[in-house]
Amino acid sequence: MLIRRLSRSAQGIPTKLIRQLYRAVAIPRTLYAASVWLRPTYDKKTNSPIRGSIGVTKKIAQTQRTAALAITGAMRTSPGDSLEIHANLYPTPLLVQHLLHNALIRMSTLPTHHPLNLIVMCIATRGPVRHHRTAIHNLIQHFTVDPRTIETIHPRPICPDSRTPFRTSIAESKENAIAEFRQCTNRTMVFTDGSSTNGKVGAAASLYVDFTHVATLQYHLGNDTEHTVFEAEAVGLILVAQLLLTRNEASFPATIFANNQAVIRSGAHPTAKPGHYLLFRFRNLVRHLMDQKDLNNNSISLNWIAGHAEIEGNELADREAKLAATRKDMTSPCRDLPKNLRKRLPCSTSTVKQAHDAHIQAKWNDEWKKSTCYAHIKALDPAHTPKSFLRLTGSLRKKHTAIYVQLHTRHTPLNKHLNRIKKSATPNCLQCGGDQIETVHHFLCDCTRYDRERHILQQKMGHNALLTSHLLSDKSAQQALFQYIDSTKCLHTTFGDIPIPLKPQLKTRPNHTGTHHA
Ligand SMILES: [Zn+2]
Repeated sequence: MLIRRLSRSAQGIPTKLIRQLYRAVAIPRTLYAASVWLRPTYDKKTNSPIRGSIGVTKKIAQTQRTAALAITGAMRTSPGDSLEIHANLYPTPLLVQHLLHNALIRMSTLPTHHPLNLIVMCIATRGPVRHHRTAIHNLIQHFTVDPRTIETIHPRPICPDSRTPFRTSIAESKENAIAEFRQCTNRTMVFTDGSSTNGKVGAAASLYVDFTHVATLQYHLGNDTEHTVFEAEAVGLILVAQLLLTRNEASFPATIFANNQAVIRSGAHPTAKPGHYLLFRFRNLVRHLMDQKDLNNNSISLNWIAGHAEIEGNELADREAKLAATRKDMTSPCRDLPKNLRKRLPCSTSTVKQAHDAHIQAKWNDEWKKSTCYAHIKALDPAHTPKSFLRLTGSLRKKHTAIYVQLHTRHTPLNKHLNRIKKSATPNCLQCGGDQIETVHHFLCDCTRYDRERHILQQKMGHNALLTSHLLSDKSAQQALFQYIDSTKCLHTTFGDIPIPLKPQLKTRPNHTGTHHA
């Protein structure tokens, strides 16, 4: 109700903000602790929502419909699936699947001292049960996730007052980073890189003393459906620490060069995030190294070096990491690796969630293709995705979004639709003689009453002015379209005066000199 009041279709909070409000406040409040009181609705055999908490899901769907109407500003007669695709909101059964999957992943990451950890692991080990299932049984038996293979995320990986045992430095630009490297006077340098190639992930670290290559360690993590490049970069740092710890040639102070800024920043302050347990292991190894070699906090520095800067050590680490990614047998012998890399690493929660989200998107796409509105929307914009409408209307006022969505769905105050919902005696256009049906296409491209206004539109857009698909899906047509609609006064009773939107800004890609993901 509140969302509806905040976002009237003529004057209201813009689409983007009201969508954010719904996703950030309404969904978490409505579906609070959903994993306890909701059961997955999808049946594995038929792959359709026919089991579990169907009734509750339908009730939630009603709330979501109200929200989708408020977000888009569509007419209340608009079909639900079309509204959800315009507002980019998962259909409710899929939303429930998404939330329950996330809840299971969350439970799988709990550390051993958490009371739920033991229960989750016991249920995962014992296998399926037929009777008296708990909520956790339902989740584990429904999703193809084994909680035992998921990484543990510690709520507090490091003590708040713990000091970082090394210095970090990230130069402002690629040139500065190269200059810093040239000025480095330390005899020992270690280069590290993580790489994802052909769906596989690997890491490597190469030790140089007096600009001479001494040793390299490599590690194959596995598939990119289980591990991220971030994890590979963190494993690279662990390999670096192992090289410094075990090779007698290494002298101190030493400098580590990594080409991923995110891993350097997180290395200084690991938090409760996916993959950070590896950085915590790296810090422990560095502490161990400091104790063994009697070093201080300035003895080791972790610096950023730009990728592909033709620095020999960096290029070598890059090549070795790619090799480690493609071939499992390239992993260095077990005796050379630190103890915590000798066992297979657990799966990253990020990749497991990403894979499930991709599965949900595909499912949504399949269901949307079966919708009666699909063919029409696809004809308007062949490259249509759930995000395209929000991209088209991202910077517009609520009024503009509402007009767009009404013209897209054809549920708009024109006689064809008004006659269908019994609000007009005739479906025909009364503006131009009454022998043609007043459709969206007729209003935009045919009606002779608006020839003068259309002439102005044609002067601006040429022959594109007669293509409904171009008018309703191209950002460059926005200004001319709303000027046309305003000058015809046809939608005046619903929307009043329609202001001309600002010229859409064409997005330019920022120059990435920063992180490098191979
Ligand atoms: Zn007409």
